[in-house]
Parts: sequence; C-alpha cells; structure tokens
Amino acid sequence: MILVTIGVLALQGGFIEHINLVRIAAEQLSLNVKAIEVRTAEELSECDGLIIPGGESTTISFVAAQSRLLEPLRDYVKLQKRPVWGTCAGLILLSDEANAAKKGGQELIGGLGVRVHRNHFGRQIESFESDLDLPFLGEGSAAFPGVFIRAPVVEEILSATASDVEVLAKLPGRVNKMRAGISQANTKDDSGDVIAVKQGNILGTSFHPELTSDARIHAWWLKSIVGQ
Ligand code: GLN
Repeated sequence: MILVTIGVLALQGGFIEHINLVRIAAEQLSLNVKAIEVRTAEELSECDGLIIPGGESTTISFVAAQSRLLEPLRDYVKLQKRPVWGTCAGLILLSDEANAAKKGGQELIGGLGVRVHRNHFGRQIESFESDLDLPFLGEGSAAFPGVFIRAPVVEEILSATASDVEVLAKLPGRVNKMRAGISQANTKDDSGDVIAVKQGNILGTSFHPELTSDARIHAWWLKSIVGQ
C-alpha cells in the first residue's frame, strides 16, 4: 500500500490537534499515512502535503523567518505547487495579501490570490461556533461544527487570479457571538462572509476543524492527495 507523508508545520499553534485528526482520518479511510511535525526544510521536503495550523500568524511567520523556513515554504507552495491547507492563521499565511496585518509588516507565504481580513470578527472573547454547510463534503452531508477564534475572512478575491479561486463555503447567517460572557449581542450580519477557498492545490479555511472531533475535512483533503 502506498505511504503518504503529511506534514504539519509545528512552529506554533494547533499542530498536535491536526496530526491527531490526520491519523484518525487515515484510519477511517484505511490509508497508510505518516503524519509528521515539520520544523525544517528537510522535513518539509519529505511531505506529500502540508497543513499550516491555526495559532498566531505573526508568530508563525516570525519563527519561520528565524528558522529560514519562509523561502522553502514559498517554494513548496508556489513553485512545486504541492497540496497545502491552512486553517485560520494558516489561511492568513497562505494569502497573497492580509488586511489588519501587524505594523512593520508580517511576512506571508502567499499563493492564494486573495486578501484576508485578520481578526475579522473581533477579539478572542468574540470567538464563536457556527454550524456550516460544506457542499464539498458531499450533497446533503451533515452540518460541520465551525469553530472561529479571532478568525480571518476572505474579503476579496484578487483580480489577477480571480477565475482560479473557488469559494468553497460562506457563513450561513448571523452568528451568535454572545459567548464567553459578552453581554451585548454583536448585531453585525456576517452571513455570506467567505470562510473557505481553494485555488489549485491550496486550501484555506477560516475555522478550526482540528479543534473538533470531526475528521471529514481531513479525510476529504487526504483523499484528494492520494488521488493525485
Ligand atoms: N487572528 C490570528 C492571526 O492573525 C489567527 C487566529 C487563529 O489562528 N485562531 O494569526
């Protein structure tokens, strides 16, 4: 049976959670998958696919620059065009442009022809969960538990590559951010905000499937890699 190696960028953030779900998805699909933590260019070069986890994009980018990983990552994503999936901070890093980026600049990996808006829904305390309809998981599939923590949204698809960028999911409706003790409802209507996109081999999601026990997106992504 072929062996697929999946790497998870392990500089900061939720990499262990992703590794666990990759293993669960592989088991469900009876695939021979090795999931590894990636901290060096050598480890990256072993990977048939890479996940960039949620966390803090400025920190991940800073540590990647310090560990001389930014260029190998750009090469992997943009020149070799290997499969890569970014969740939350990972989506920010994979975007060509980010709004509300940290002053003094934040180095992105890029590759996705979109501009994201960081921390679109506000602060940590305004984190929320929303049931998502993800048609790419199959017509009529059950709602996916979307976990949004200081999440970005895709605010614009950049024109040069517009036709290559596929919108995979949008927020279904007004979300309830009255969690964690917020006393006043945030009345902004977020329905229609773009929260999942795909361009070629690059997938980006605003939310954190790795913080749930639902391995369906991991399984879908693994299958697409094996299919290649
Ligand atoms: N807002 C964070 C950032 O800019 C991302 C948050 C997350 O990954 N949960 O990196």
